[in-house]
Amino acid sequence: MQERTLSIIKPDGVARGLIGDVVKRLEQAGLRIKGMKMIRMSKEQAKGFYKVHEGKPFYESLTDFMSSGPCVVMVLEGENAIEKYRKLMGATNYEEAEEGTIRKEFASDIEKNVVHGSDARETADFEIRYFFSELDIVSY
Ligand code: UDP
Ligand code: MG
Repeated sequence: MQERTLSIIKPDGVARGLIGDVVKRLEQAGLRIKGMKMIRMSKEQAKGFYKVHEGKPFYESLTDFMSSGPCVVMVLEGENAIEKYRKLMGATNYEEAEEGTIRKEFASDIEKNVVHGSDARETADFEIRYFFSELDIVSY
């Protein structure tokens, strides 16, 4: 089933020069990049994006971090794209992530874990619309 998911290279990933490494893995996995831009979220935008986590102990720190510098946001498309990309990312906590995953390879902090990926159809839809209009998504 063709589906879309939202990927973010978080501020730590951009600052550490990991854009190329992440993009290379997406391309090699056959995930098509159909939208891509660099953004800098305000604190309010970060809070809206992570609204599902409102009230959790890490919410304030996470939204400070996500608005602390530029991110690269991408719309990925492909067969089973949501699960495929979650597998490439690895577990939220890098210590529990499988060998070879982006987080295992590059992260060393549970918060600053290099990448974001949508976790279901409904969240992917919300998250893509949060950053992209349909006109920004290229068909090819
Ligand atoms: N996070 C954190 N501490 C936690 C859990 C999550 O700092 O105990 C951060 C981390 O950056 C994570 C983000 O909050 O990527 C969103 O959490 P979620 O559980 O949705 O993890 P993800 O879907 O990113 O794997
Ligand atoms: Mg999540």
